[in-house]
Amino acid sequence: MNNKPKIVVLGAGYAGLMTARRLTQTLAAEEADIVLVNKHNYHYETTWLHEVAAGTINPNQARFMLSDVVNPNRVRLVYDVVSEIKKDEKRVVLENGELTYDYLVIALGFETNTFGIKGMAENAYSIVDIDSSRLIRDHIEYQFAKYKTEENPDEDSLTILVGGAGFTGIEFVGELVERVPQLCKKYDIERSKVRIINVEAAPSILPMFDKDLVSYAMNSLENRGVEFRLDAKIQECTEDSFIIGEDNEEIKAGTIVWTGGVTGNSILGKSGFEITRGKVTVNGDMRAPGEEDIFILGDCAWVMNEAEGRPFPPTAQAALQHAKTCANNIRALLHNEPLENFYFDDKGTVASLGVTDGIGSIFNGTKLKGKSAATMKKVVDNRSLFMLGGTKILLKKGKIRPF
Ligand code: FAD
Ligand code: NAD
Repeated sequence: MNNKPKIVVLGAGYAGLMTARRLTQTLAAEEADIVLVNKHNYHYETTWLHEVAAGTINPNQARFMLSDVVNPNRVRLVYDVVSEIKKDEKRVVLENGELTYDYLVIALGFETNTFGIKGMAENAYSIVDIDSSRLIRDHIEYQFAKYKTEENPDEDSLTILVGGAGFTGIEFVGELVERVPQLCKKYDIERSKVRIINVEAAPSILPMFDKDLVSYAMNSLENRGVEFRLDAKIQECTEDSFIIGEDNEEIKAGTIVWTGGVTGNSILGKSGFEITRGKVTVNGDMRAPGEEDIFILGDCAWVMNEAEGRPFPPTAQAALQHAKTCANNIRALLHNEPLENFYFDDKGTVASLGVTDGIGSIFNGTKLKGKSAATMKKVVDNRSLFMLGGTKILLKKGKIRPF
């Protein structure tokens, strides 16, 4: 009879995969059984999905097989979809079975938040995972191919509308300005026929950056053909348009992508956790309030920044750091030692504006723009790939070609 405590990790994204890997480093094999549950048999780099969606990288570059990076002697991989967590029974219900646990780590990531905007969930694409991003890439290309075969093509069919100018929206249009000229060449279509329109409710794009960097980003993208509609709240999304602003202006398009916000995985609410704007506000040790044996990480968690009295923004950088605190604290629980509190080591933020451009604010507030920011973004992307997959995956999938 096996009496080892069983640690079940849900989700093999940044937080979940990193937790599983760290647990194998911090615990001896005889100390615990570790189970990692994920929807797919691969991990994908969520932070690269805008590139997959625009078609500037191949979907396979943004993912790698879990069996290539997880030691099967230490971690049991379960490829299944989590349906619900029965925390009172210490049980996880999966689509094709169930699991019991002694310690549970919930790292199931984000879902799109459409804020109930009429028609958005039904009519707009969203960048969520490999499949949804590949669908956007293929849909955009289909619009080009269709345009060429029609006698009287709809001129709006080549317009790409992007709702929301936060990080995801801006990084996505940054990739589109690289991809559209390639598609124009491939399908013999004039570049002037294709419009890329980014609609944002706020008066500015990327409000977290200072004015100088924001105006650099806007100029760079506008010079390469992006049209911005600021101060323009999207009221409705129809099959082929956004209805925006106070006067209900209609903008038609052949491709509509919503990048206006995310929320935590809906399994949290379904499983009876107390949620605030879709996520659980965790204790300093990353456990769910009132739960001795459940940790919640990554985009499922609000982690309070006590100094500023508000939560840290949900990022991959933070998710990887949550994993370290969580693995250390599971070890502490097994060893009857005191738990540590999460400390966010903020290394800064960089937003790409295509392959060779970007803006960023790093370490002690040093500002970056242009190629230096784009280079830094690739360093960050490669670092997370290395942390999760090691040298082999970095060499296979990394962004190591010079530009
Ligand atoms: P994820 O990495 O999303 O992983 C969740 C995992 O859970 C996935 O493997 C998923 O398949 C699995 N899963 C979900 N539901 C189920 C289920 N029911 N059953 C089983 N498995 C399930 N942050 C940065 O710091 N820097 C960036 O440059 C950056 N760029 C971004 C670009 C884009 C386009 C997007 C969308 C986000 C970006 N972010 C960035 C934010 C960052 O990606 C997230 O904060 C991060 O992915 C959160 O990590 P996570 O482990 O919580 O979730
Ligand atoms: P976000 O919430 O950061 O941005 C959404 C944008 O959509 C906001 O600017 C908002 O004003 C706008 N919006 C919302 N409703 C609207 C409406 N009705 N009409 C028009 N505009 C509307 O969401 P995101 O960009 O998906 O980012 C999600 C998280 O992922 C963030 O925490 C972000 O930090 C992180 N992320 C980071 C990076 C990076 O570090 N490079 C890249 C992508 C995402």
